[in-house]
Amino acid sequence: MFDSLSDRLGGVFDRLRGRGALTEADVRSAMREVRVALLEADVALPVARKFVDDVTEKAVGHNVLRSITPGQQVVKIVNDALVEMLGSENTGLDLDVTPPAVVMLVGLQGSGKTTTTAKLAKLLSGRERKKVMMASLDVNRPAAQEQLAVLGTQVEVATLPIVAGQQPVDIARRALQAAKLQGYDVLMLDTAGRLHVDQALMDEMKAVADIATPNEILLVVDSLTGQDAVNVAQNFSDQVPLTGVILTRMDGDARGGAALSMRAVTGKPIKFAGVGEKLDAIEPFHPGRVAGRILGMGDVVSLVEKAAQSIQAEDAERMAARIEKGKFDLNDLRSQLAQMRRMGGLGALAGMIPGMKKAQAAMASGAVDEKILLRMDAMIGSMTVKERAKPEIISAKRKIRVAKGSGTTVQDVNKLLKMHQEMATAMKRIKKMGGMKGMLSMLG
Ligand code: GDP
Repeated sequence: MFDSLSDRLGGVFDRLRGRGALTEADVRSAMREVRVALLEADVALPVARKFVDDVTEKAVGHNVLRSITPGQQVVKIVNDALVEMLGSENTGLDLDVTPPAVVMLVGLQGSGKTTTTAKLAKLLSGRERKKVMMASLDVNRPAAQEQLAVLGTQVEVATLPIVAGQQPVDIARRALQAAKLQGYDVLMLDTAGRLHVDQALMDEMKAVADIATPNEILLVVDSLTGQDAVNVAQNFSDQVPLTGVILTRMDGDARGGAALSMRAVTGKPIKFAGVGEKLDAIEPFHPGRVAGRILGMGDVVSLVEKAAQSIQAEDAERMAARIEKGKFDLNDLRSQLAQMRRMGGLGALAGMIPGMKKAQAAMASGAVDEKILLRMDAMIGSMTVKERAKPEIISAKRKIRVAKGSGTTVQDVNKLLKMHQEMATAMKRIKKMGGMKGMLSMLG
């Protein structure tokens, strides 16, 4: 996700951080590079321009340039501006109404609408324990209704029985009735798409929205189409009151232009991101975390969440309690590494750990992932109990001993300690943000 943008920005910031002092000219030249990077990522021109202007204005201030770590400060300003550009906070679904809440998905054909309907239904019926029904109103694409029924079986969510020949508005009416009578909490309507925006599609969509009075009208767009995705969103938004956007195929989006411009151009929040073909490959869109990933600072919160999902509630509680205290020693890192092994390697997670993104690039296969995790485990295993609890006592001499004991090099030990340090700092940050308890309880 965002790899090429991330690499470009990473280069600019490495140069900024590498200097002790910064002049206004340094900042301006770095910001010119940022602007080019954003445009190459397919960010809308006015958005890129405003972004760079805002950041420059803040960054050339005396407080920043005269501070002890000007480079770091500039990166922080960029981070904050990115978060703001992405929409500041995660916006969830508003389903707090007399049931059934109606969620209508709209978008062009091939955007991933049907898949996303099933993904969302799975999310709502699983983690949020809602009683969900799905109905396909797509009478244009052959077998679209059957496709949703098959997905429904896979995610164990009910679908409205298909009545051949029925038109979208009538299907919507029947779905609403069935959902009401059968006590469903949420009704999801998958609407028809076209290959491009046309009036027939818009009229049908409006007619359905009139009947179903949805609580959420979510536009599904393919992030790989970049600026086109933003234009499509603008077109739909002109016709129906969209409540949010779901960007699909973020897993393959190295540039990120759609994600970065969507909010600024359309004013609509990105509520979810599709990150793969599997039916659980959907994530709530958190601007702060996404900005962290773009800037290569890692997405520790998502990492911890992922880990929490796979560990026993008890372990999670214990971990949460430690993080609550701002504690994260090498024992904690070791149990995290064990979790990662259980979760199937480092591949998916490396991008989320601060400082691991570059290491990930060097890793080719899953087998290597496993090896690296095992090596880290061996290093921690070669440490004394005291060293694990208080990594700061690990002197150069001790590092040589640990390297020998684990069949690694001092460089490897240093890397491990650095990674631990970064994670510990991130955990402290989580503590400052109000702790993990709330976050973990959200996971159920
Ligand atoms: P629709 O015509 O809009 O209903 O599109 P579909 O739901 O049928 O999806 C079209 C294709 O996109 C399918 O092969 C999906 O598996 C794939 N797809 C959907 N969402 C994602 C995603 O987030 N990532 C990836 N990699 N593929 C996706």
